[in-house]
Amino acid sequence: MDKPFLDKLRKIDPYVPGEQPQAKDIIKLNANENPYPPAPGVQEVLRTFDASSLALYPDANGKRLKTVLAERFGVKTAQVFLGNGSDDVLALAFQSFFCSDKPILYPDITYSFYPVWCDLFRIPYETVPLSEDFCVNIRNYDKPNGGVVLPNPNAPTGRALPLDAIEDLLQRNTDCIVIIDEAYVDFGTNSAVSLLKRYENLLIVQTMSKSRSLAGLRIGYALGSETLIATLEAVKNSYNSYTMDAIALAAGEAAVRDEMYFQQICHKVIATRERAAEALRELGFTVSPSLSNFLFVTHPKKEASVIFEYLRQKNIFIRYFKLPRIDNYLRITVGTDEQMDKLIAALKEFL
Ligand code: PMP
Repeated sequence: MDKPFLDKLRKIDPYVPGEQPQAKDIIKLNANENPYPPAPGVQEVLRTFDASSLALYPDANGKRLKTVLAERFGVKTAQVFLGNGSDDVLALAFQSFFCSDKPILYPDITYSFYPVWCDLFRIPYETVPLSEDFCVNIRNYDKPNGGVVLPNPNAPTGRALPLDAIEDLLQRNTDCIVIIDEAYVDFGTNSAVSLLKRYENLLIVQTMSKSRSLAGLRIGYALGSETLIATLEAVKNSYNSYTMDAIALAAGEAAVRDEMYFQQICHKVIATRERAAEALRELGFTVSPSLSNFLFVTHPKKEASVIFEYLRQKNIFIRYFKLPRIDNYLRITVGTDEQMDKLIAALKEFL
């Protein structure tokens, strides 16, 4: 049948997130979620939330959540932007700041949503190869560009750059916007927040999905100069004024208020990460040094895809990317000690 409208539809290869199997008795280590529940204050907000208030639109500006975030990071409220998960914030930032004819730069091995946004928003891009052992070399970003986006720590490798390297990158890229995607920063990396005072072209993007155990609520935010944040607000308000719902705004505020709980669960994840890394090394795996809530590993004698399938059969879900340079690697989210023990036991059996 002739359907001439078909050639008018947008053709795009979307980002594919980690599988969300619905079975109850699985060990889910495939989406870098936190194995611990959100702060008790979040549970309280949800328990006492007045459903009748949902008849009204939420605060489009998210003032209360912005205020607690501004206090936490020592910036002005006008330097905080909120979004429906950091994917939403990043997508808006790509649209708002990468408007040049020159290609934007990011690592060849990184968050696989970046090329999808470039494609969607028709942003030219160039990838910059990581070293053999997956390190970012800032000098390789010394070329004409329309912007830079760098996750720190990087995903899926888990490797992080020290703050002076990020500052070096900013000093060498003063005429474009530099986005540092800090989705995993709370698991041991220094945030670039302290650099905001000196670099007006720096945008830091963070999320509550990982270190604050709120992946299900979709809360992301950006910190930057007032000029960058005002630009993001204008672009957001040109497509959807209400990206954040009232429940997420209230729960997010409670999560930020409980600094002690936040520190506690981050430390727990870090301790488990180090323990699991050691156990994996004992099994012969090569484990990249990780400052995130996941481990990036390879085994010299066994194929990653085979290990992945074996664990899947055992109801243990990890992540395998069939991509150049990393198709013999596995990304394993750090779960609880008990979950990691089960993973190690299954791997022992396999090997
Ligand atoms: N940045 C990186 C590097 C990520 O791995 C993720 C998680 N997939 C995100 C951003 C987005 O996280 P969220 O939308 O849940 O905030």
